[in-house]
Amino acid sequence: MKSIYFGEEHELFRQTVRQFIESEVAPHANAWEAARRIPRSIWRRMGEMGLLGILFPEALGGSGAGLFHALAFLEELPRSRMGGFCAAVSVQQFIATGALFRRGTDALKRRYLVPSITGEKVGAIAISEPDTGSDVAAIRTTAVRDADEWVINGAKTWITNGVEGDFYVVAVKTDRDAGAGGISLIAMDSDLPGIRTNRLRKMGWHSSDTAEIVFESVRVPASGLIGRESRGFYYIMETFAVERLVTAAIGIGSSVLALEETLKYMESRTAFGRPLNRFQALRHRLADLATELEAARQLVYHTAWLLENKEPAIRESAMSKLLATELNKRLVDECLQFYGGFGYVEEYPMERFYRDARASTIAAGTSEIMREIIGKTDIDGVAFAPVEDLEETGMAEEAQTTASREAGLAQAAPEPALPVLPVPPVPPVPSAAASGPAGATIPTDLPGFFQALPLRHRPEKTIDWRSRFHFRFRESAHPEWTVAIDGASVSVSEGLTGTADCVVQTTEKVYLDIETGRQNPETAFLMGKVKVSNVAAMMKYTKAFRPVAGR
Ligand SMILES: Cc1cc2nc3c(=O)[nH]c(=O)nc-3n(C[C@H](O)[C@H](O)[C@H](O)COP(=O)(O)OP(=O)(O)OC[C@H]3O[C@@H](n4cnc5c(N)ncnc54)[C@H](O)[C@@H]3O)c2cc1C
Repeated sequence: MKSIYFGEEHELFRQTVRQFIESEVAPHANAWEAARRIPRSIWRRMGEMGLLGILFPEALGGSGAGLFHALAFLEELPRSRMGGFCAAVSVQQFIATGALFRRGTDALKRRYLVPSITGEKVGAIAISEPDTGSDVAAIRTTAVRDADEWVINGAKTWITNGVEGDFYVVAVKTDRDAGAGGISLIAMDSDLPGIRTNRLRKMGWHSSDTAEIVFESVRVPASGLIGRESRGFYYIMETFAVERLVTAAIGIGSSVLALEETLKYMESRTAFGRPLNRFQALRHRLADLATELEAARQLVYHTAWLLENKEPAIRESAMSKLLATELNKRLVDECLQFYGGFGYVEEYPMERFYRDARASTIAAGTSEIMREIIGKTDIDGVAFAPVEDLEETGMAEEAQTTASREAGLAQAAPEPALPVLPVPPVPPVPSAAASGPAGATIPTDLPGFFQALPLRHRPEKTIDWRSRFHFRFRESAHPEWTVAIDGASVSVSEGLTGTADCVVQTTEKVYLDIETGRQNPETAFLMGKVKVSNVAAMMKYTKAFRPVAGR
């Protein structure tokens, strides 16, 4: 295949994966589907073959390969003829272990990630709960610190690999009042006292175990915390672009296989003295499906290319997931129709393809949530700062979460409005009203904050910079402010003057809460309470002013 994305090495890898799946996995599909599990031996075999650590570095036992190797792998997985196998393997390799790799300590990596690459341990990511799935910020499972342990209480559901898995990465609330800003990720063994699991009976994906998990005063070593406390929401969001790409790629591979099988069938099956593939009414529908599939496939590749080039690709990964999984659902429906009655019986592949395709528009973020994200970018004008811009402003950690935060925004607060951008704290201020610890005064109203802004200016940060900011406040007697930065000087005026390089929208209360430290700015942003039209400018702005005195 000639491609700008795939070279010879990718194609050789693809052939190896295909051969392995066709010879060592697909022949067992019926048995594993009936048993509703996949055997441990296949995990270890995949580990031996280096198929469970494609993106992870060699130092951890991975292959250190890129996303296009991963795509080649994912597109071949559906040749297992089991959506459940695709789900189990992709969760283990690309979803459950992502935060462990990026944020986990060496000890956690050794305990969970390294054995998952060798296939000795199977992992699960437990975010969804009985009362909340799409709205991640609303999870209720709690973790309370007790000496050198976390005590976990709550319930999770729909957890892939949840019954058979050896470890979980669990999203918990470590601060139950803080919404998204109170979520942490904790890694734990799955056999700890107080953990109970129940296997769910599903319409499809039979070979994948999908669990309800109950945590009753489960004690986990404090060292199980992944990264920093209360940063879990960002860590979850960090994995979303890849997770969506992964699901999209499996959708593409599933559609390619379904179409391939259907074309074979239509070549051999005759009606009215002709093979089915000679009927123009059917040929045109096949041609449409093949065209849509090719278009979806190219979008998936383009998204992978963007991610490889450090672009957030939030819009494109949501589009890829939406298009590829919805197409897969429609395509297998059409293909089943082309099989006639044989499409409806278990002996033929389309019956399982049809059931399995149904899960993919729900798991890993529903189609509706994907549309919400796309609506944010394409209707509300949301833009994303390139990672490099954020890194330049010294916010490397923020940069890694940019894309995901925007996705989170769409997930947690789908109320659209102005252009929204990932935004750091709106700058804090000193002035008149309350007294700070060192006798400094902290303003209590908008005029106080804005009038005092020049006092906090750091001219050395803006020496070569000219920029104008418009602040618009809802629910305020002083709703509009302009801040103009001109090299080493800054001027503030009430009202909107000139053309803004950046527009900031929020309420007076949220702004004051952020300035005085009562509201976490990132959480405010995540919940859609602060909207900013130019993230790079805003990043620079936050560095141009000292924090409010007394904070
Ligand atoms: C087979 C399977 C495997 C899964 N594996 C895992 C796993 O390993 N780990 C894990 O944590 N989770 C897993 N999930 C859970 C999955 O991520 C959730 O089912 C999904 O995010 C939807 O959440 P929900 O089921 O609670 O639906 P809800 O969030 O209750 O949504 C119900 C309906 O409302 C729509 N909706 C919700 N919010 C909006 C909105 N803002 N705008 C428009 N429509 C909206 C949804 O799209 C959906 O149609 C799995 C699910 C399935 C089916």
